Amino acid sequence: MTDDIQRARELLDHATAVAVLTGAGISAESGIPTFRDALTGLWARFRPEELATPEAFEANPKLVWDWYAWRREAVANAVPNAGHWALAAIERQCRDHQVDFTLVTQNVDGLHRAAGSQRVVELHGNIRRVKCFDHGHAVDRWEASEQVPTCPRCGSLLRPDVVWFGESLPSDALAAALAAARTCDFFLCVGTSTVVEPAASLPFLALQCGARVIELNPVPTPLTPHATVSLRGTAAQLLPALSRQGQ
Ligand code: NAD
Repeated sequence: MTDDIQRARELLDHATAVAVLTGAGISAESGIPTFRDALTGLWARFRPEELATPEAFEANPKLVWDWYAWRREAVANAVPNAGHWALAAIERQCRDHQVDFTLVTQNVDGLHRAAGSQRVVELHGNIRRVKCFDHGHAVDRWEASEQVPTCPRCGSLLRPDVVWFGESLPSDALAAALAAARTCDFFLCVGTSTVVEPAASLPFLALQCGARVIELNPVPTPLTPHATVSLRGTAAQLLPALSRQGQ
């Protein structure tokens, strides 16, 4: 075990309230591309802003629906990796020791719950769900067809139940994430580029409130110079060592 992992684990062992923020990087080893990597092949000529905004959907609903259908398929075939399992194990360890634990994720793939994580705050929605564009009616089933399907209640087009650029985050999820960042003394930030707001501010808020902030990412990010400990590597490699699974 490296000195950095050892240090992070000691801090975790002494924590009284733990918050974790995950981004697309934690699901990379489950075969789900990060946002930038997802724009390859067929989709290489688009920018995220051209596909993941309400304006993009209004301009070309079929294009946006098809991109999400392609990503939904990748998610449906994916299983949690060692990083997801390790975070679920850390949550169980925290519970056993009456340590408060909150996992905040920017991911829309549902893999944390699939790995057994229980207290999960989904900041950006869930790609497995859909709702209608005009009223946000939740819709459980829809027919796959050449056309974008419509809402059985109001007839408006269906869209993924995810937060697009320029949209507000669900207020209860954001409030829970802010509360966790403010009250934790150990904040772990995994696989996020810390550039998409407001999630990007959470580790900085935790730092301001006195928490130790541990970053895990294969490459440096804007958080790196501020982190208490920076773990350089992948989630599936390093998170098991941080949990007791690594012993
Ligand atoms: P991002 O694509 O901006 O950044 C991903 C980060 O993960 C990068 O810093 C990268 O260095 C790091 N990374 C890559 N492989 C890793 C690994 N194996 N282990 C650990 N880290 C690794 O993603 P973001 O910061 O989450 O923000 C982009 C937005 O895209 C989010 O809002 C999210 O909702 C959305 N998104 C979600 C998914 C998903 O649900 N799986 C996938 C793509 C995009």
